Amino acid sequence: MIFLSLLARNRLALAGLIVMSIVILMAAITPLLPLADPYITNTSNRFVLPFSDGAILGTDHLGRDLLSRLMWGTQLSLAVGFAAATVAATIGAAVGIIAGYYGGRTDNIIMRGVDMLMAFPYILLALAIVAALGTGLINALIAVAAVNIPFFARNIRGITVGIANKEFVDAARLSGMSDARIILTEILPNVLPVIVIAMSTTVGWMILETAGLSFLGLGSQPPVADLGSMLGEARAALITNPHTSIVPGAMILVIVMAINLLGDGVRDALDPRLKSGALNRPLPATQVAHDRAPAPAKEEGILVLSDLHTLFHVKDRIFRAVGGVSLAVAPGECLGIIGESGSGKSVTALSIMGLVASPPGVITGGSARLEGEDLIGAPYARLRTLRGRKVAYIFQDPQATLHPLYRIGEQLAEAISAHRAIGREEGRRRAIELLDAVRIPNAGARIDDYPHEMSGGMRQRVGIAMALANDPEVIIADEPTTALDVTVQAQILALLADLSRERGLAIIFITHDFGVVGQLCDRVAVMYAGRIVEQGPTRAILDTPQHPYTARLMACVPELGGGRRRLEAIPGLPPAVDDLPPGCAFADRCDRVQSDCRLGALPLRPTADRAVRCLHPVGQTDAAQ
Ligand code: ADP
Ligand code: MG
Repeated sequence: MIFLSLLARNRLALAGLIVMSIVILMAAITPLLPLADPYITNTSNRFVLPFSDGAILGTDHLGRDLLSRLMWGTQLSLAVGFAAATVAATIGAAVGIIAGYYGGRTDNIIMRGVDMLMAFPYILLALAIVAALGTGLINALIAVAAVNIPFFARNIRGITVGIANKEFVDAARLSGMSDARIILTEILPNVLPVIVIAMSTTVGWMILETAGLSFLGLGSQPPVADLGSMLGEARAALITNPHTSIVPGAMILVIVMAINLLGDGVRDALDPRLKSGALNRPLPATQVAHDRAPAPAKEEGILVLSDLHTLFHVKDRIFRAVGGVSLAVAPGECLGIIGESGSGKSVTALSIMGLVASPPGVITGGSARLEGEDLIGAPYARLRTLRGRKVAYIFQDPQATLHPLYRIGEQLAEAISAHRAIGREEGRRRAIELLDAVRIPNAGARIDDYPHEMSGGMRQRVGIAMALANDPEVIIADEPTTALDVTVQAQILALLADLSRERGLAIIFITHDFGVVGQLCDRVAVMYAGRIVEQGPTRAILDTPQHPYTARLMACVPELGGGRRRLEAIPGLPPAVDDLPPGCAFADRCDRVQSDCRLGALPLRPTADRAVRCLHPVGQTDAAQ
C-alpha cells in the first residue's frame, strides 16, 4: 500500500504505470478482439494508408492488416521481453547470491566466469549465441537473457556480500539452520527489492534487444512478427510508405518509455529510506508556525530560550516534544539539561538553530535569543552564518559525525572554510592549533589520521575541536560522553570545563547522568515530558532535590562509599508526549501524588534558590496536608 502511494506521488512513474497497464491489457485481450487475421496476405491491397476503410492503421507490403499485426506483435514482444528479464533475473540472482553467500573460492570461480561474459561486447555476444543456436524467437530470448545474467549476478552478489556478514545471518547460523534455508529465509527477502528494481530498470532494455535481433532477422521468423521484425520488414518501404515503419516504431517507443519511467518510480518507491516517509527532503531550517507568539525574554544571558514549543506532526498525531521551555546561559557558564531518554532534551537543543527535521517538526511558540536576536523564524541565510560560528554543536557519536574518507585535518579546515576563506597552509596550522587546544598529543602528526585510526575519546576531542573551530560563543553538547568509558569521560569533561573558563564559552550540556552534571555544570535544568520540572544551581539541586522526579532520578545514581543503599528504578514509563495528562505529567509515577496534582497545568514556581514545577515538593511540609 505504501509502495503504491509512494509510486503515485511520482507523476511520471504514474503515467508510465497507466500506459503500461493499457498496453498489457490490450496485449492480453488481443485474441478476443474482432481483428483481421494478421497472416492473410492480399497483395492487391498493399500499402493502404492509415485511416482507410477496413484498415485503421493501413496495411503492409503484403497487404496484411497493420493494426492486427501490431497487436499480435506487441503481445509477442512483451512476452519475450518479460520472459527474458525473468530468466536473467532468476539465474543472475541465484548466481549472485551463491557467490556472495559462500564467498572465497566459489565466489572467485563464479565471478571470473561472469567477468568473462562481461568482457564481450554486449550485442556481439547476443549475435554469437543466436548464430550458435540458430535463428528463432526462443533462441533470441535465450541470447538476450544470457547477456543480461552478468548484470544481475554482479549487482546481487554485491548486496549479498553486505548481508551475509550481518549479525542476523550469524544468529541464523548459530541456531543451526542449513545454508539453503538461510539463503531462502534470511538473504533472499533482503535482496528481493534489489532484484525487482534491477528488473524494472532493465526490462525495457531487453525488449529493445529482442526487437533488435528480430529486426536483423534473427528473432521471430515470418509470417509471425514481433515489433522488431515488423520494423525489419518495413525497412525497404521506409521512404515510400513510412507508416509501415512508424506504427511498430511508435509502439516500441511508447513501451520502452513507459517501462523506464515506471522502473525509475519503482526504484524510488522501493528504496527503504524513501519508504519511511521521507520522500521529501527536510527543509533547511525547522519550520516555524505562522501564528507563533514570540515570548519576551524573562532571563538574562547570551542565549535565552523563552517558552519554546516544538511539535512533531506524525500522521494525525501531534507529539509535543518541547512544551514551553525557558532557560538561559551566560558566558563562562555551564548549564546542564538532564532527563530520561525521550524527555525532549535533544529537540530543545536542535530547535535553537532550526536543526529539527521539518517535516515533521514545527516550532509553534516561544523564542530563542542569541545576544538579543531571535533565532526562531530567522531567515535561513542568517541561521547558516550563525551555525557553527556563534553556536556550535557536539554530538554523541563522533564516529557518525566525522566523514570516514577525509583526514581529520581536512575536516577541521573545512569547518573553518564554511565561514571564512582560508588557505591550505593556514587551514593546516589552525587545525593543529585546534587539536592542541583539545589536548591531543602530537597534533602535528595526528591531523593526517582518518577518523577510524583514532580511539573513541580522541574522536570526541576532534568533535570538540571542530565545535571550537570558529571560536563560537555557545557550545551545545548533546550527550557527548555517553558513548565513552568513565575515565575518558572524566578527561573530556575536564577539557570542556577548562575551555569554558579559558574562552568564556557558554555551554549547554545535555546528559542523563547526574554524576556528569555534578562535575561540570553550574546550573541544571531537569526535563520531563518536554517541560522543565526543576531548575537551579547544581549544588542546591544535588543536595536537596525538591521535585519528586529529580529526587527519584538521583536515587538511581550509585554513590561511591554510599553504603548499602538500594538503587531505585522509577516505576512506569514517561508519558507519550502526544497525550499528556492535564495536570502534572509525572503524577502517574509519583509516590507523593495528591488529588490536586491532576487538576490543571502547573506553573514553574520560583522558590528561594530555584524553580520547581510541583505542588508538593520533597522536603517541604504542605500546609494543606
Ligand atoms: P531526548 O531527551 O532523549 O534527547 P528527544 O528530544 O530526542 O529526547 O525526543 C523528545 C520526543 O520527541 C520523543 O518523545 C520523541 O518521540 C519525539 N521525537 C523526536 N524526534 C522525532 C521525529 N523526528 N518525529 C517524531 N517524533 C520525534
Ligand atoms: Mg537525545
